[in-house]
Amino acid sequence: MGERIYNFNAGPAALPLPVLEEIQAEFLDFKGSGMSITEVSHRSSTFDEVINDAADRVKRLLNAGEDYKVLFLQGGASLQFSMVPMNLLADGQVADYVDTGTWSTKAIKEVEILGKQARVAASSEDQDFNYIPKNIAFNRDAAYAHITSNNTIRGTQWQSFPDTGHVPLISDMSSDILGRTFDIAPFGLIYAGAQKNMGPSGVTLVIIRQDMLERVPGDLPTMLKYTTFADKNSMFNTPPCFAVYVLQLVMKWIEESVGGLANMEQLNRQKAALLYDYLDKSDFYNGTAAKEDRSIMNVTFLLKDSSLEGTFIAGALANGLVGLKGHRSVGGCRASIYNASTLEAVEALVSFMAEFERKHG
Ligand SMILES: *Cc1c(COP(=O)(O)O)cnc(C)c1O
Repeated sequence: MGERIYNFNAGPAALPLPVLEEIQAEFLDFKGSGMSITEVSHRSSTFDEVINDAADRVKRLLNAGEDYKVLFLQGGASLQFSMVPMNLLADGQVADYVDTGTWSTKAIKEVEILGKQARVAASSEDQDFNYIPKNIAFNRDAAYAHITSNNTIRGTQWQSFPDTGHVPLISDMSSDILGRTFDIAPFGLIYAGAQKNMGPSGVTLVIIRQDMLERVPGDLPTMLKYTTFADKNSMFNTPPCFAVYVLQLVMKWIEESVGGLANMEQLNRQKAALLYDYLDKSDFYNGTAAKEDRSIMNVTFLLKDSSLEGTFIAGALANGLVGLKGHRSVGGCRASIYNASTLEAVEALVSFMAEFERKHG
């Protein structure tokens, strides 16, 4: 077997090696069934155990009580941009959105396409989305307030969540779900594509509170209603079985190998600090996000001499470091250091950056 590369891809992204090994070990004969998990009926007790265990672990890790349901959907986080307003924003009501860049902007656009009302309560567009707006005056009559907890492309992250009173918070947590602890109580709904911090692409996690399920109108297409999936344990139709299975293994890894979400967060903070401390010491690289809003998941930076960027990316790859190119819409560099990326990988990156600086600085 060839050596594994240090993977800084933004998504799909690195998975924990022990999880990949577990998949490999049980792939041809899943728990004595004589079949792989991709060949098992989703109506079997074998798969039931997998999907129920996945949901139970998500709830345990997030400390989500009885009033929350975990759903496994398809269509990515991008479909949630539409499903959230379709299900939770009645005509005549207004929803507050905070625009912190690309993904929030796309979420707002879908509300408008539906002919519903999104009010941009705050935006950081004035500074190229390099910070998180503060002291936002939320509308106390809004149907909900939507935020993007971590801005994958800009490298910013809400350090604490805004107080919206009785207005339910809704968050796109695609790139930081299960990367840190937080209080779920103010949230009516959380959604996240699995392919950054939780598993492979193909499954979207939705955690929805009971009072939000009660809002779902009857006249939506069946497959676009949260209640359809809540009533049928996410199996109204065939779920993305393999993706749910891998997600379950990642949840088990966080609980049993890492030792829970607090430990996961501590490791993530340690990795991010290593990288940011280096960026701050160096005159050769510059972080692009406002310091107080820096993401512990996506570290975005520029080389002071941007003409060296191509050489940097190519050199990194030659040294076994992949995925450091910034998103095509913003350029620059980005190291995505999600749950599955190791301290060793970040150490290797920092030492490559230092060597590159010595050579070209
Ligand atoms: C990647 C990403 C998305 C898009 O996710 P898909 O599953 O590809 O639709 C949406 N929001 C955020 C914050 C992301 O990082």
